[in-house]
Amino acid sequence: MVAVASSIERAAAGIKSSAVLDFLRKPKQLLIDGKWVPAKSGKTFQTFNPANEEVLALAAEGDRADVDEAVKAARRALEGKWSSIGPHQRAGYLLRMADLIEKHVDELATLESLNNGMAISLANRMTNGAASTFRYYAGWATKIYGETNPSDPSMFNYTLREPVGVCGQIIPWNGPISMFSWKIAPALACGNVSVIKPAEQTPLTALRLGELLLEAGIPEGVVNIITGYGETAGAAIAEHPGIDKVAFTGSTEVGKLILRASTGNLKRVSLELGGKSPNIVFADANMDECLPTSLSGFTTLSGQVCCAGTRVFVQRDFHDEFVERLTTRAAQAKAGDPLDPQTTIGPLVSKEQFERVRGYLDIGKKEGAEPKLGGDVRKGKGYFVDPTIFTHVRNDMRIAREEIFGPVASVIPFKDENDAVLQGNDTTYGLAAAVWTNDVRRAHQVARALKAGTVWVNCYNNIDPISPFGGYKQSGIGRELGKQSIDLYTQVKSVYLKL
Ligand code: NAP
Ligand code: MG
Repeated sequence: MVAVASSIERAAAGIKSSAVLDFLRKPKQLLIDGKWVPAKSGKTFQTFNPANEEVLALAAEGDRADVDEAVKAARRALEGKWSSIGPHQRAGYLLRMADLIEKHVDELATLESLNNGMAISLANRMTNGAASTFRYYAGWATKIYGETNPSDPSMFNYTLREPVGVCGQIIPWNGPISMFSWKIAPALACGNVSVIKPAEQTPLTALRLGELLLEAGIPEGVVNIITGYGETAGAAIAEHPGIDKVAFTGSTEVGKLILRASTGNLKRVSLELGGKSPNIVFADANMDECLPTSLSGFTTLSGQVCCAGTRVFVQRDFHDEFVERLTTRAAQAKAGDPLDPQTTIGPLVSKEQFERVRGYLDIGKKEGAEPKLGGDVRKGKGYFVDPTIFTHVRNDMRIAREEIFGPVASVIPFKDENDAVLQGNDTTYGLAAAVWTNDVRRAHQVARALKAGTVWVNCYNNIDPISPFGGYKQSGIGRELGKQSIDLYTQVKSVYLKL
């Protein structure tokens, strides 16, 4: 314990918030059936601060046996107390949760930044966004309707929209608080129960949110939190015969494993996967807006964003000037201390990601792309990578096809609208895309032609819980957020009554 305590002092050096320090010092256990318990195996794993590589905490290493307990508790809640709780009361829990998140926004954002490395300003925005998501789905709880159908006069036929049941929810490390809200809020609004597994790199904020859910009065067993590894705890969730639906956000590779594992009991599956999103810039665009937004499009969260605009397509005549101007701006945007309010780019989340990005920078150079800016990772403590801009990239190079998940963009010229759309769509992914132009006809035509779940016109990375988010092609199955999430978390029953 002494070793852990001194490690916390080093890992969270400079943190004054007693709420954050108190939380870090507490044991990190699993939430099962409304109680905090150690993993049955007694095992724990280390979680780090990626800005200084120090151990921030030990978390319980849940595995199959803990998932089993959590699924039993969830099933009991679903078939017991939770099923008798009406929509107004469910809305009440979600509203209280939104209030609690806002009340603790500084603490949550600091924890998120410490564990993930994200810039504190972004952590604050994303935490407030999570409160909005809880509030938005609180509104839905009382507005989930069935229908009466125009049946034969001898019949009365109506539909009921019912919860899917026990939901297994597996979330990634990029935006842990945000991802928790996207999964838990709609699931509970629709009357489901959850077994949720945060990513191994970032278990902490999910645990703090678990405490807040209990404070909001959520009955025991409705939300169970299992920290642990994907290959064990995650795989157990994906396969579990007692889980009715699995919702996953993460890599396309693991998404395919989840889909395969779901066949045992034909779980409902929704997947939010990777992307290689095109950001298409026409020469007539407003450059004062386009340049800073295109930069943040691939550097926000150090580029560890599924919808990052990493392929920047620029109209040929304007390409060289655009590259100059983007490079000048990007050169000023260095990665720095994530807890400094002025910082816009923090470190990458882990050593693994750091090595992965370093690998892609080498691959890009070997393939013949030229780093106009950057091109290497930083030396020293912490997983810092400054922005890299590659030119002389062909759309068939690996750096233009594969998800790098670092602050790395490839700038590629295009001839005209048709060429921009052809190149933009030439990818196995289809999560997001953007088009910059002042020509309204062209904006709508290109938005229609792009094969992506979200298209931004003259903006980037805007996400609001009112609007669906998800992928075309190998970027996923299903849509989260908006009313589409209500479809994911409900199933329809048709009732015939003979008159
Ligand atoms: P990942 O393995 O797909 O992780 C996402 C979640 O799935 C984590 O909770 C993970 O648990 C879990 N998981 C891993 N293997 C599993 C399995 N066999 N069965 C069930 N669950 C499993 O992603 P990663 O390894 O963290 O990152 C690798 C790459 O994926 C990144 O470089 C990036 O390109 C991409 N990625 C994309 C997104 C996105 O939002 N689209 C998010 C994260 C990563 P553990 O954390 O415990 O392993
Ligand atoms: Mg993993």
